[in-house]
Amino acid sequence: MIDVILTGTGSPMIDQNRAGPSTLVIAGDSRFLVDCGRGVLMRAAAAGVGAASLSALLLTHLHSDHITDLGDVITTRWVTTFTPTPLPIIGPPGTKAVVEATLAALAPDISYRIAHHADINEPPAVQVHEYRSGTVWESPRITVAPTDHRPVEPTIAFRIEHDGASVVLAGDTVPCSTLDELASGANILVHTAIRKDLVEQVPSQRLRDILDYHSSVEQAAATAARAGVDTLVLTHYVPPLTAGQEDQWRALAAAEFTGRVELGDDLLRVTAG
Ligand SMILES: [Zn+2]
Ligand SMILES: [Zn+2]
Repeated sequence: MIDVILTGTGSPMIDQNRAGPSTLVIAGDSRFLVDCGRGVLMRAAAAGVGAASLSALLLTHLHSDHITDLGDVITTRWVTTFTPTPLPIIGPPGTKAVVEATLAALAPDISYRIAHHADINEPPAVQVHEYRSGTVWESPRITVAPTDHRPVEPTIAFRIEHDGASVVLAGDTVPCSTLDELASGANILVHTAIRKDLVEQVPSQRLRDILDYHSSVEQAAATAARAGVDTLVLTHYVPPLTAGQEDQWRALAAAEFTGRVELGDDLLRVTAG
């Protein structure tokens, strides 16, 4: 059994009720945070998971909205663990430089805490691993494949398998064969999605710019159909999903995908297996 909890369904278009993009995946004793948008640790706390108990942080890409709270995850992990427990961070190439820059920005804080606490003698311990494809974690098994969010690259999706259940986290991407393959036969596909029909009408070219590198609801649903997944979970709603609109989003997805479609508020929980 794998539990998927949407720890943030928002986007750079701020909605006070939605944390930034992030998903928590609980597989047995393991807890993986996938992306770490704005406010994510507050949502993870509401789901009963703290930074200290994370098995790893997985990053689909380095767009700011997906890593806003990287410093928070790193420092909260650091100050709430009492024996040094390195935080594995797995992301695409470029992740190491971003983590190093984040640690550099935290240098004053790190020096204050080391000076002040007798039992903190080392800076935050992180282990960064960069991948474009292949197996990145053994138990539970996690594999990654490249996605297509160009000109943002490289970007990756994750597949987590445990106890006969499987969950794929697509991140931001347009439809691509590598994602289709990674998601093939999965129980759950978590996919970010935008309402192209609404975004197209916004009188701002800057906002319409996002149309060419995200999947619409229909495209995410078509990916789910091609991959033959059981359940499509939509997240990272642009524009923000408002109460009463859920059926519109479901109808757009249902035009392409006959399986179960889940969407909603932060802390929505969906179980595989
Ligand atoms: Zn992105
Ligand atoms: Zn995004």
